[in-house]
Amino acid sequence: MLPKRRFAWLMPITVCVVVGLAISIVAVRDASAQGAVPKGRTAAPIVDGQYPASYFPNTELLGKDEMRITALGTGMPNQTRAAVSISYLVELGNGDMFLFDCGSGMLANLFSLRPDFSRIDKVFASHLHVDHVGDFMALHIGSWLSGRYSPIHFYGPTGATPELGSKTFIDGMKAGYAWDIATRSGALPDAGGQIEVHEFPFMQENEIVYQENGVTIRSWPAIHSLDGAVSFGLEWNGLKYVFGGDTYPNKWYIEHAMNADVASHEAFLPPAALATYFGWSMAQATYVSTRIHTEPSAFGKVMSQVKPRLAVGYHSVQSPENNAAIMDGVRSTYDGPLALARDLMVINVTKENIVVRMAIIDEYVLPPDVTQAYVDAPRSDDKSPSQMVLDGKWKGYTPPPMPKK
Ligand SMILES: [Zn+2]
Ligand SMILES: [Zn+2]
Repeated sequence: MLPKRRFAWLMPITVCVVVGLAISIVAVRDASAQGAVPKGRTAAPIVDGQYPASYFPNTELLGKDEMRITALGTGMPNQTRAAVSISYLVELGNGDMFLFDCGSGMLANLFSLRPDFSRIDKVFASHLHVDHVGDFMALHIGSWLSGRYSPIHFYGPTGATPELGSKTFIDGMKAGYAWDIATRSGALPDAGGQIEVHEFPFMQENEIVYQENGVTIRSWPAIHSLDGAVSFGLEWNGLKYVFGGDTYPNKWYIEHAMNADVASHEAFLPPAALATYFGWSMAQATYVSTRIHTEPSAFGKVMSQVKPRLAVGYHSVQSPENNAAIMDGVRSTYDGPLALARDLMVINVTKENIVVRMAIIDEYVLPPDVTQAYVDAPRSDDKSPSQMVLDGKWKGYTPPPMPKK
């Protein structure tokens, strides 16, 4: 169903990187769609759809008509190192980047890609569960430290009442992290410390949440726990990616995800696996798996209707038993193209091809390089504790003189 992948000419370079041989590649810093590429990597175009078997971040130029979707988190609120909470990164050939959800734990996976953080300034939140938004403040501060010099934008739904909506969530985050933001303001670019929230009605049906630069993102309701959960559809350049968030199978998804190029939707642990995983009764596991979420066989039924070029299931924990149970459930009702997402699974999408690979990343990766615009962005003065606290400095230590600016 998916095109055959072959090792391309790029392989010798990637092998060199893996074995740690020195390669003298000058860092690319330009304003093209690829953005800033860290030193030690060079980006090359994919020729004739021949992708390397694995994805090495910052080694491939994204085609101008191409979309790259990276699963940054596919797991549960109780994370493992192999499966953190939900998040997807979408990169477009026009240079735009979008995050769909930023569940707890996703940030390390995002940093492992060493992206140009000046471009990662938009998060679309499907709902306000911690496994979907728990890393938002970590992302905000981490990306502000690593190249983002403009405000971060949070697009999220209303709730049944204002207290349950995205604006209240972000106001609370700002209040809770007031000290953190205040300490870093001045040393880091001023504008990068700002959060702008864009709240939209959870009940809107396929209405526009975002439209810019040829990209349209729409939302429709999801059925999950309480009012205030949504799914998103991103359309650009004749390609469509759908991010389901968390939901019970619903009519809006089937209508608006119809014929998407890539349709992602939760494929939750089936009741028996969930009961074992959490030590729950079958009654509770059945309720959560089949009333709050979508069990694998129901995911398959949804995808049999939607008929995407690629169906992507997520929201589980990895174990041989669980993986087999999920695959069996999906395949009992759906025989189309399928990827059960893992953290750092990468999906390249063009009109001709959809290629699914795993990213190869380093455990001890450095932060990405920053752009000159980040270095030059306005900063106000450094902050300092009060004189009373400064008077407590131990006289037994003298710091080195400050270098000239
Ligand atoms: Zn949820
Ligand atoms: Zn969830």
